[in-house]
Amino acid sequence: MKEIRGRNEFIVALGEVPASRLVWLLAGLVLTIFVAVTVWVIPIAKERVAIMGGFLPALVAVVVVADILTAYLLWGQARAGRDSGVAALALTYSGTGFLIAANAWDFPAAFLVSSARPGNNAVWLWLFSHLFFAGGALLYALQPRAVALDDARFLRSRRRALLVTVALLGGLYVLANGDLLSSLGGHGSHFHAPLWLRVGVLGFMVTAVACLAWYRRANTVLDTWLLVAVCAAALDMSLTMFGDSRFCVAWYVARFVSLVGALSVLGACLFEINRLYSKLVLNREQITGVNAGLRAANSELSVIAERDELTGLLNRRAIISRCGQAFDDYLRTGMIFSVLMVDLDHFKAINDQLGHLGGDQVLAQVAVCLKDTVRASDAVGRYGGEEFLVFLQNTTSAQGGIVAEKLLNAVRAKNFRFQGRTVPVTVSIGVATICVGDRTLEGLIGRADKALYAAKRHGRDRQVAAEGPRERV
Ligand code: GH3
Ligand code: MG
Ligand code: MG
Repeated sequence: MKEIRGRNEFIVALGEVPASRLVWLLAGLVLTIFVAVTVWVIPIAKERVAIMGGFLPALVAVVVVADILTAYLLWGQARAGRDSGVAALALTYSGTGFLIAANAWDFPAAFLVSSARPGNNAVWLWLFSHLFFAGGALLYALQPRAVALDDARFLRSRRRALLVTVALLGGLYVLANGDLLSSLGGHGSHFHAPLWLRVGVLGFMVTAVACLAWYRRANTVLDTWLLVAVCAAALDMSLTMFGDSRFCVAWYVARFVSLVGALSVLGACLFEINRLYSKLVLNREQITGVNAGLRAANSELSVIAERDELTGLLNRRAIISRCGQAFDDYLRTGMIFSVLMVDLDHFKAINDQLGHLGGDQVLAQVAVCLKDTVRASDAVGRYGGEEFLVFLQNTTSAQGGIVAEKLLNAVRAKNFRFQGRTVPVTVSIGVATICVGDRTLEGLIGRADKALYAAKRHGRDRQVAAEGPRERV
């Protein structure tokens, strides 16, 4: 399914760049100049002008190169934006470029300073290049657009497009039937192709212009300048036929119009691609800055995610994860470790005396005391309300007992304070060391917990080593 993009999103594909007021103004100006020039040319269309040597070869070369270059740029954009409409347009430009080159090749007098009549094939190629261009533009106009337009407006535009096209085609038919377009065809004229074909090609171009104008509503820069290009191609064709021979006023003007048409889309492509590229570079700098900010925020978040707010220690998830890593290492390498389950004695009474706020402050001070007593390679986390889990790396049962004793002494000796009062605190500790029968971390922590309850039962302010795991048969 085609991705529909909103206007405020980050645009990188040329086919989606919205036309600004300035673009509309510029395109409108070029179209107005076209109309003014046409009105000016009609009375003097057939007047002869001095033959300029090298004018035609240079012009044909520029138009062919411009068309091929436009096709190349559009093809790149179609691939980048996955836009089938722009791809059709790229093929149209390359086909038109090659047809114009073939037309010049098949017209031996094209590059001579003479007004020799072209051969039949050259005329067909000339007409067909215009038909091909208009057909491609029409195909593009009918493609679903990348920038979404709501359905009701789109349908209304479609109806209007149909009406205007039918009206224009009807007008052309009336003009042709009333012989008002006689200078477009007939015998003895410079370009000898049947009238119906010339009017038909012109009518097709008018259809393409109308569809572009109403189906696409010149919403994007590409739509707008393509509209100018198709108008220019139609005008080029009709002025050439009005002039009826080479090197007359209408013929020269037609060549210039054709040049403007060929350069309009190429110019717009180059300008917009350059602008998009500059924007991309700027955005890359912004993204680098945003990325650095995100990385900093991320590491801040991971600290927040594993810290206990009240005590600043690791929270339950983080301390269990640390023990889990050690458990995995033990299974892999046999490196042992011990855990201590620490619980404050008669903490309810402390809460009752000092209130919950006082209890909190005492709890935070005990946490600091525990943390300061163990080594940096060990870890202390808040396991529950006033229970702490201490992880001791590479520690045997006997060494675990020594650390537990150190903790008991440190807490007992410390003067915990609240509002100028000294609060005596003691803790009870269950010590468990990993051994062969431990199948899970939960089992090991359970053994430490049991030992803690034994310490409580035996009078508190003491440590008890856990029993070994019960082997299941
Ligand atoms: P024991 O010696 O048997 O452990 O007695 P205890 O009073 O400490 O009993 P227990 O461990 O069962 O109760 C813990 C109490 O700690 C209950 C709860 O009110 C209090 N507590 C738990 N978390 C917090 C906390 O974050 N802040 C405060 N102020 N109190 C807490
Ligand atoms: Mg307690
Ligand atoms: Mg408790």
